[in-house]
Amino acid sequence: MRLILLGPPGAGKGTQAVRLSQILAIPQLSTGDMLRVAVSEKAKIGLHVAEAMRNGNLVPDDLVSKLIADRIAEPDAARGFILDGFPRTVGQASSLDKVLGDYSLDHVFELRVDEELLLGRVLGRAVEAHNKGLAIRTDDNEDALCVRLTVYASQAKPLVDYYTGKGLLKVIDASQSADDVTADLIKAIA
Ligand code: AMP
Repeated sequence: MRLILLGPPGAGKGTQAVRLSQILAIPQLSTGDMLRVAVSEKAKIGLHVAEAMRNGNLVPDDLVSKLIADRIAEPDAARGFILDGFPRTVGQASSLDKVLGDYSLDHVFELRVDEELLLGRVLGRAVEAHNKGLAIRTDDNEDALCVRLTVYASQAKPLVDYYTGKGLLKVIDASQSADDVTADLIKAIA
């Protein structure tokens, strides 16, 4: 089963990807997580990447496409995977098609949520992390979030059109509770 979760920051992609990963026993592949690890390990990934992430901008297509291509080639992804936060541009989507070749995607889900709800969710995530003494994402602040929402708004439509054209896109109402969103996803997969 090869799945993609699309959606703005705060839509719950990470939460749902972790749940689907457990239910379906396939890995969750998050480019955001991979990039955060690379930055924290001070890998040769470059300062410009850390800065783009801090500001809420996208990092270059070729960099994330290579990360995903390498990760998909690992044995645990042979039975399938859930992509969380990738692709974010049509360029990345077409790189993915080349990497997958004859292995087609099964579903592309767009998690749709009102913008006002997103602001509260993401800033709430920062407050919760602070209260629990957990690391706060450097981009979970109002300025970076505004950039992230604007970037998403400009890239989402072409990406949604791309997968609609392939007959793969399904819209999920992600303003519901996390449990209801999971139930809708499972129903759509079954
Ligand atoms: P996320 O955890 O998915 O919200 O990603 C956090 C940040 O990592 C984004 O704001 C981007 O700076 C970078 N990033 C993650 N995935 C991608 C991607 N597919 N393309 C470009 N930049 C990405």
